[in-house]
Amino acid sequence: MSGHGLEPPAVPSPGVRPAAASEADPLNPMLVIISGPSGVGKDTIIEALQRRGHRPEYHYVVTCTTRARRPNEIDGVSYNFLSPNEFTKLRDSGELLEANEVHGNWYGTPRAGVREALAGGQHAILKIDVQGARVVKGCVPEALLVFVVPPSFDTLVEHLKARRTESAEQLELRQRNAAIELARKDDYDYAVVNEEGRVDVTAEKIERIIEQEERRGFRRAVTV
Ligand code: 5GP
Repeated sequence: MSGHGLEPPAVPSPGVRPAAASEADPLNPMLVIISGPSGVGKDTIIEALQRRGHRPEYHYVVTCTTRARRPNEIDGVSYNFLSPNEFTKLRDSGELLEANEVHGNWYGTPRAGVREALAGGQHAILKIDVQGARVVKGCVPEALLVFVVPPSFDTLVEHLKARRTESAEQLELRQRNAAIELARKDDYDYAVVNEEGRVDVTAEKIERIIEQEERRGFRRAVTV
């Protein structure tokens, strides 16, 4: 993390109107990356964040993957599920902001999805892995990086097992990668612990961070 963890939001003095940047300026949306190891609860956190409602709105950018679709997933909603050939074509034509191999499959962020959100005055929310987050931060330095941490490594492993979406081999790979990913926590602007059964609290913490950054105004004018 660049020198700071989860900080309390700045509170304006009584009777003083907050600066204009706090008025959620729809012309200055942010690119927000929510990252963290597999099984930490990123999907549920993003759902909770979207339920809270916000202005500018949160626009979840659907990313692309070559991973097989799970039974509960919907093409075009959960991911754009692509064949390796389709993925390569998209990547080679420059349509992906970043493309990375994660847990043995390819994942990539469509530039168009991010542009569309920002052009529409919405905060673009990306749920991508640590490698992808680093690449995006490299080309969009204003991006806000939030890392979600499990309360403990054991809790993370229990969650991964309980969701029963992975083969034994995938489960092991994801556990191994989790340790590597957790070691990258300091690359992020903020780290937030997703306490057991408290997803709404986690979403609220992330919202406070977003609002704090809106007030600061440093992350505006993103071009992708
Ligand atoms: P899962 O297979 O469990 O859906 O996702 C595996 C990992 O890939 C997660 O950490 C998820 O955040 C990440 N991921 C999803 N989409 C992208 C993407 O477009 N780019 C990158 N780099 N990672 C992604």
